[in-house]
Amino acid sequence: MEDKLLVDNKLYAIEVGHTNSNRIGYVKLKADRIIVKIPSKISKHEQFSMYRKLIAKAQKYLQRHKNIESLEKPEIDFYNKQTVEVMGRQFSINIIEIDSKTSKAAIDGNAITIYLSSSLSKERASSITSNLARRAISTIILPDFISRIDQFNSQFFQSNISTVRLKDNSTNWGSCSRKNRINLDFRLAFAPDKIRDAVIIHELAHTVHRNHSKKFWDLVYSIIPDYKERRRWLNENKHKLVPGYKFDGVS
Ligand SMILES: [Zn+2]
Repeated sequence: MEDKLLVDNKLYAIEVGHTNSNRIGYVKLKADRIIVKIPSKISKHEQFSMYRKLIAKAQKYLQRHKNIESLEKPEIDFYNKQTVEVMGRQFSINIIEIDSKTSKAAIDGNAITIYLSSSLSKERASSITSNLARRAISTIILPDFISRIDQFNSQFFQSNISTVRLKDNSTNWGSCSRKNRINLDFRLAFAPDKIRDAVIIHELAHTVHRNHSKKFWDLVYSIIPDYKERRRWLNENKHKLVPGYKFDGVS
């Protein structure tokens, strides 16, 4: 297996790893490398064929999206005394160091207080702060996501939705399980409404069609004729989905 891929004079290193899944592999694009994950439980022959397919997919994507500034979703950092505007609400972040091994977050109205263990390294402290702040904000804005999902669901799908969660998804913007559990990427909270709606409609359409068949896409396009443009916008602007970024001309 080759370990580098050249696309438009740019060299990407290829990292191959395994997943514990029985059949699902994926490819993830970073600024300078391509990460391929292949199920360890399939035969060597199947692994090789999946590897070729995933690399071809990455190559096609990279050739098509020459102008995107970032291939990665942004890491969202939170800091003390920060004001975060999200979905029309404003929160203040306060970070207080405490003499304890565990860290936690508390929500009081519009204030999110992170009680951060003083024993952490700088790097660990910033990742724990980000996680706790993300989860606190998710708790507050989740009802807004749910009401939007309910609105579209009753209008177009009439499915039974079991749960909705906001996550820090690295490989997708949303997913819908067979039991109609919908997961959405937390960063969508920082996206314009119509972009967020496109991801929601896509996942809701999976409650009717469990695949990406023509029937699935016909359903999606019947609700959002400009779905493709919205998804392209999301791909090209994902690095802007952070607190404080103001989008002009997209509503
Ligand atoms: Zn899908």
